[in-house]
Amino acid sequence: MTVSPEHLIRPEILALSAYHVPAAGGMVKLDAMENPYRLPEALNTELAGRLAAAPINRYPDPRAGALVDILRRAFSIPAHLEVMLGNGSDELIQILALALARPGATLLSVEPSFVMYRMIAGFAGMRYVGVPLRPDFGLDEAAVLAAMEREKPALVFIAYPNNPTGNVFDAAALERIIRAAPGLVVVDEAYHAFAGGLSFLDAVDRHDNLLLMRTVSKLGLAGLRLGYLVGPARWLAELDKLRLPYNVNVLTQAAAQLALEHVRELEGQAERIVEERARLHDALAALPGVVVFPSQANFLLLRVADAAGMFEGLRRQGVLIKNLHGSHPFLAGCLRVTVGTPKENHVFLEAFKTELDRHP
Ligand SMILES: *Cc1c(COP(=O)(O)O)cnc(C)c1O
Repeated sequence: MTVSPEHLIRPEILALSAYHVPAAGGMVKLDAMENPYRLPEALNTELAGRLAAAPINRYPDPRAGALVDILRRAFSIPAHLEVMLGNGSDELIQILALALARPGATLLSVEPSFVMYRMIAGFAGMRYVGVPLRPDFGLDEAAVLAAMEREKPALVFIAYPNNPTGNVFDAAALERIIRAAPGLVVVDEAYHAFAGGLSFLDAVDRHDNLLLMRTVSKLGLAGLRLGYLVGPARWLAELDKLRLPYNVNVLTQAAAQLALEHVRELEGQAERIVEERARLHDALAALPGVVVFPSQANFLLLRVADAAGMFEGLRRQGVLIKNLHGSHPFLAGCLRVTVGTPKENHVFLEAFKTELDRHP
């Protein structure tokens, strides 16, 4: 008798399609919100030394104490709050969902937002509820409040700024949502470095059901896989039980320590990206038939007449962006482009103009 996966794997997993990462070899890669800048040469040399010295024959420090200390300093995390590290913030989302997945428990977010909230809810066996944003991508406060009243979500994720829309939600409305939530709320600040200082870090003390999540991925360290969750010990001590003991490896700890000792360097790169964002925004907005949405992140959302045609045409020209058409009704005709270096943005813009003539 053959043992078949269809009979053993949970049906909701069988029904999923795996998270698709397109091939990007040799392309101008503007699809994944990466920081286009490398560390300066001198820092890379120092990094080589640190990595060579890192004891990879040993298991990592399970608490990554030295890294947590530097992280606290780099991002001004107050001493009375705990910090938990994840193998990317994706892992932290997964830990949160696993911890709160009591039978029948619900995870709520807004839509369109970060797709991993829905996917990970499925992994953990949580029910998922997505509350539509307004068509202008603002938070529909009344709809979220009504959905929370109806669905009683154990866990709410709000990305601030939001991905893939790039905007920040109204802070007062979000604060009221946190206050009204019957469960835990996690504000996901993956794009904090580009949001002009807007943050809910200070709000953690005002609510007993709020945790703050961030990542260093968009700040220039996507390859290291490092996210962090900030909140009171009474929450993080429970969540930490689900963290696999060595989730942040020796090389990531060593490299992130060095990079965060020089966090000003990364923040300087983020400032350049923010300046480029304004330039790219204005150049795109000046083109006929192109709508560019306001962004506080390191990417721009735009709407064109033929998103699929533009996406394919750009790809043929060696520029990879993200086609969001078809992923949500509000994203009809939408493309998302990560802000790159001035040179990459120039290549993108020229290719974009050519394709716009072909797909007006
Ligand atoms: C990119 C992104 C993440 C995931 O970050 P990693 O730390 O790389 O796993 C989380 N939340 C949002 C909103 C993102 O856009």
